[in-house]
Amino acid sequence: MKRKKENLSSGRKSLQYRGTKCLNCGHPLDRSDVYCPNCSQLNSDKQLSAKDFFGEFISSILVYDSRLRKTLKDLLFCPGKITRNYVEGQRLKYANPFRFFLSVSIIYFLATGLINFFTPNEEIVSRNSETKIGFNAMMDSISANTSRTISYADSINKEKPLKYYSDKELDAMPFTQSYKERFSLYNDFYEKHKIKNAGIALDSLHHRNTAVNRWVYSKNTTVEKISEDPTEFAQYLITKIPFFLFFFAPLFALFFWLIYSWKEYTYMEHMIFIFHIFSFIFLALLIAIIPDLLIGSKFFISCFFLFIGPFYFYKALRNFYQQSRVLTLLKFVFLSTVFVIGLTFAATIFVVASVAIY
Ligand SMILES: [Zn+2]
Repeated sequence: MKRKKENLSSGRKSLQYRGTKCLNCGHPLDRSDVYCPNCSQLNSDKQLSAKDFFGEFISSILVYDSRLRKTLKDLLFCPGKITRNYVEGQRLKYANPFRFFLSVSIIYFLATGLINFFTPNEEIVSRNSETKIGFNAMMDSISANTSRTISYADSINKEKPLKYYSDKELDAMPFTQSYKERFSLYNDFYEKHKIKNAGIALDSLHHRNTAVNRWVYSKNTTVEKISEDPTEFAQYLITKIPFFLFFFAPLFALFFWLIYSWKEYTYMEHMIFIFHIFSFIFLALLIAIIPDLLIGSKFFISCFFLFIGPFYFYKALRNFYQQSRVLTLLKFVFLSTVFVIGLTFAATIFVVASVAIY
């Protein structure tokens, strides 16, 4: 490949085109400099020909391509090796871990979105939701809760009038109770009058038209929107997962940092390890989708979550941190527990926060 690159740009590299000043950054250059030591642009004042231009373009693709190939190969087949090499200084060999994670997750969601779009039958929709790390279960419980509140509101409508509180009375209550009562009052009011405009509703309730009150009132429509179409909300949640993991990673890295601190890895290096693991998860899911789709079951996805995923995580820990089997196994159990509990906890907050801004 090196020779190919040489051929493509040999003309521009020749001595007759070398200058004494970098055309890109103005750094003083020697005639012997092939590249600028400051910004690494080629030292050449030759006018750009089509051949030069496309040559540069193709060689940049080839470099990117080889970087991508190395990243994929090491990430998929040598657990922990990529992080070890990267942390030890082999940066240019691999793609940037954060950018790579975002790219892979974006491709994953585009691919699942496409599959959902082209095969909108019941079975595949439910299968894909299950791959999405239990979010569907959470959605079900949310919509179950919503329908409960609505039927509760219905029974209120039939049996007794609104239980009215004034703004002052609500303010006097303890914080959580105040929010609960305010929400159920607004919910009852909404169920009864179906007024969508928060300003008008607050006015007829004789409540202050503040941003908080408008927000609490507007959640009525959100609840209705979600219970009418839970899948749409699930889709909305799912597109936010990469960003959610992005914010979850620093928290998770804290536990790595706690139990591996003596090994003198920096916090950032633990983060890189975690992002490599996350990237592997999305890559493996992406790979498992195709055979699962063909045989019409969740065999490969289940295999991944039950065997391949945990095994890979253990191997990556052992190869990257290089501790004994027993120690690695103990830390593997600890970190997996933290991962599951932490993810469940963070996901709950994430779902609640998503409802708040949906
Ligand atoms: Zn320069």
